[in-house]
Amino acid sequence: MLRSLERDLWRTRRWIEEAERREDERTRGERERPPAPEWLIEIGLGGRAPVYGHVGECHVAGKRSRGVDRGQALRAVTEGVPACTHCRPDTGLGVLK
Ligand SMILES: [Zn+2]
Repeated sequence: MLRSLERDLWRTRRWIEEAERREDERTRGERERPPAPEWLIEIGLGGRAPVYGHVGECHVAGKRSRGVDRGQALRAVTEGVPACTHCRPDTGLGVLK
């Protein structure tokens, strides 16, 4: 009898611990939102062709911009996607000639 009560109690504690852990992860997840992307590629009106490369926080980047990592941004700019003249991502990427 006592043993089964202890087992139940142990299970309940485990369950509470598990619930608390999940709650912790959830609140931590909300705190640690992914940071704004470091680089942006702005897509043209057609929805396909990239028209500008931007630094992530560029204020002239259009709504059609999507976040890319440094490698993707570097490739876009070296492959001829124009660098935005406001934020000069080519300078940041070290490809300015
Ligand atoms: Zn820009």
